[in-house]
Amino acid sequence: MKIRKVEATHVAIPYQHGGPLSVFGIGTTRATMDSVYIRVDTEEGVTGWGEAFGFGACPVTAAAVSRVVAPLAIGREAENVGALVQDKLHERTIDTVAAARETAGPDFPIALDTNCSWTVEQSVEMAKQLRCFNLSWLEEPSYPPDDHAGLARVRREGGIPTAAGENLGNINDFRQILDAGAVDVMQPDVNKMGGITEIRKAIALGRERGIAVEPHSPFYGPGLIATLHVIAAMSEQDVMGEFFYADLEQSPLGDMIYPRDGYFAVPDGPGLGIEVDEKILQRYRVA
Ligand SMILES: [Mg+2]
Repeated sequence: MKIRKVEATHVAIPYQHGGPLSVFGIGTTRATMDSVYIRVDTEEGVTGWGEAFGFGACPVTAAAVSRVVAPLAIGREAENVGALVQDKLHERTIDTVAAARETAGPDFPIALDTNCSWTVEQSVEMAKQLRCFNLSWLEEPSYPPDDHAGLARVRREGGIPTAAGENLGNINDFRQILDAGAVDVMQPDVNKMGGITEIRKAIALGRERGIAVEPHSPFYGPGLIATLHVIAAMSEQDVMGEFFYADLEQSPLGDMIYPRDGYFAVPDGPGLGIEVDEKILQRYRVA
């Protein structure tokens, strides 16, 4: 029973409850009760309904479902929910790692990111099989990403370094994952943590605990440049800058987003040191 269509509908319904209008945690008045309804249709004509969490961010949630989740779900088996949830994008088989190691040679550092593909038990077994490839780290092997005790077990029993952090949102999350002994490498994300001020707290924590920090940054915009500034200011270790390989048709930030001979240039202008080409932004603007 294959999924034919996934549709997200954001509804905002005025309400009364006999008192002042409710206030969101961020201080804005709540004039409507908002929900995101999800309708899933199968090729056989079966329809199911669900709801996505949105609260004050329902427009964002609805857009994420329509534009990101729906294309991934359409054509898949509706009854195989586990496979849909576990599915991501990265190479994660022994054969692909072996091919990468053979291509890179014995000394070039390579790492494996599985985007939380496996159970803890599977992660331990895969880690044991991956030991021979001398990976710099195994990144987010197990699901869910906030199972710090589970990841600690993978690290302890698997016998290769572990990395995580892109799915952690604040400094307390990082304290918890370090307290659990779950990682050898922390990967805070400047965009997800709330900017340079917040990511510096994670970097300071890593320094305090003696844990390596490799910022997560699969970006092509200001988030990438902010990450480069953060890395440039980290003097305690040799830090890599992540680049999600692709050549954009056009870049609103020009060529500064691309590494040359393996190195990024860090802009030295005011602020992030970037000039945004707004014509390109408008050309590729979605809505
Ligand atoms: Mg990752």
